[in-house]
Amino acid sequence: MTPARTLVFRGHQLLVDGEGRLACAPQPWLAGRHALRTLDFCSPEGQAWTVVEVARELEAPPAHAFHHLKALLDTLPAATRSLAARALELLEFDRSHRFCGQCGAPTARAAAPAVMRRCTDPACGREHYPRVSPVVIVAVERGAEILLGRSPHFPPGLYSALAGFVDAGESAEQAVHREIQEETGLRIGKLRYFASQPWPFPHALMLGYQAEYEDGDIVCAPDEIEDARFFHVDALPAVFPTRYAMANLLLRDFCLRHGRPWPPQR
Ligand SMILES: [Zn+2]
Repeated sequence: MTPARTLVFRGHQLLVDGEGRLACAPQPWLAGRHALRTLDFCSPEGQAWTVVEVARELEAPPAHAFHHLKALLDTLPAATRSLAARALELLEFDRSHRFCGQCGAPTARAAAPAVMRRCTDPACGREHYPRVSPVVIVAVERGAEILLGRSPHFPPGLYSALAGFVDAGESAEQAVHREIQEETGLRIGKLRYFASQPWPFPHALMLGYQAEYEDGDIVCAPDEIEDARFFHVDALPAVFPTRYAMANLLLRDFCLRHGRPWPPQR
């Protein structure tokens, strides 16, 4: 079966039409062009799709463009975001698991729809699956204030909720307490799970939490956090993370719970 639905990626850039929607029928254009990688997979809703990776120098067809997926997250419909995130993570998995991590022999792709690679050494035969790396991201609240910080590599003026990878053997809740303690020296009390979101750069799963400040003064971890502080709901920083990002959803929830409009009025 040849699935009719096809996504095209060039690196992290997705092929879209002039309106910023998924290119609807790129197959004829793809026919004469070299694909670096082609993978069949199922969407989260169970539909058959194909993702094609093309070379970085390839230009988009007329009336189309390649845009970085991060830049499209605000505008793509939710189902398309999920689909594109999955496709991009699967490409990354296929590219980075060509050899068995257990014995070093080459791996081979298993038949669709399962996206998996199996070691070709019969003595090993280990199966490799796409990896997902959990990241916790936390809105620490102190009354009408929210804790936001910035890393040295952030664009000027941007502050975001603090985040970090879950360590081996750690629960997400332990990771939340540890990250806040390590990055700011603060202790937090009660935690609430908020929401999760795939972040395919390259294979993170963002787990959003809301936490109550307990005690301590902010001492930023050198090299990790350039500045962190509590912002009052009426004096939030001017630059926000991209709309779809979990940090933005946490901020929006914080504003709405305090009866403020979203986005903030200036
Ligand atoms: Zn092996």
